Amino acid sequence: MEYTLTLEKMPAWLNDQAQAQYLLKADQDFIQVQRLLGRQITIEFLNEKYCSNCGNRFEQLYRMGFCQNCFFTAPQAGESIIRPELSRAHEGIEDRDLEFEKSYQLQPHLVYLANSGDLKVGVTREAQRPTRWIDQGASEALVFAQTENRFQAGQIEVALKEYIGDKTPWQRMLKNEIPEIDLRKEKENLKSKLEGDLKQFYVEDDEVQSIEYPVQEWPSKVKSLNLDKEPGLEAVLKGIRGQYLIFEGGRVFNVRAYTGYRIKLSFA
Ligand SMILES: [Zn+2]
Repeated sequence: MEYTLTLEKMPAWLNDQAQAQYLLKADQDFIQVQRLLGRQITIEFLNEKYCSNCGNRFEQLYRMGFCQNCFFTAPQAGESIIRPELSRAHEGIEDRDLEFEKSYQLQPHLVYLANSGDLKVGVTREAQRPTRWIDQGASEALVFAQTENRFQAGQIEVALKEYIGDKTPWQRMLKNEIPEIDLRKEKENLKSKLEGDLKQFYVEDDEVQSIEYPVQEWPSKVKSLNLDKEPGLEAVLKGIRGQYLIFEGGRVFNVRAYTGYRIKLSFA
């Protein structure tokens, strides 16, 4: 089988057994990625890159799958996307496109705690639950607060970042070196850090979401495939976690990081 595709974040969801499921969107069809486990896969970069916003072809993309112009002008790459605390739509203040920012920011958001190799705090739109947790490769996640908009969630995240990190240690995550962390206890400890108006958004519900990933064998070391320096790879697919494909020998490929890259994907 042979497919061509422009890479983008793999759509992901949980099945009834709380195992992450993934798709790759090819030009011709959707590929159920877990069906490729144990098979020899060839990824070949076709030396074409397309901006995920304007769709034009560029020699280099700037960041997050955007060309330089879109990265600095498109509302999809606005400051509040990365830093929720900079949201201003609730005050009617425009960053790049107020209508877009209102629809994006003025909806329920979650502040969550997750264990993806270390304890971290994050913000996501409620509609992205549990997708966001799968994308980060979390083993467990727990809702800390639920807010009316993105700004409030950003305020809470900033408050919690004084005490815990917001990064995913991707190498540990891919080697499945996950420490034991009692998310309920951490949540209870962090509750007292909320001040003033932010207290009202704390969520009492303590349901921890566990997530399993389709991985046949965890690598003991990992080395990322870099499509700007290598033409591709040919190896047996051993697993999928976060937005990474994990191959034999510890080669890993961050699909999302190559958003906009055209590749040929083939397997027997
Ligand atoms: Zn563009």
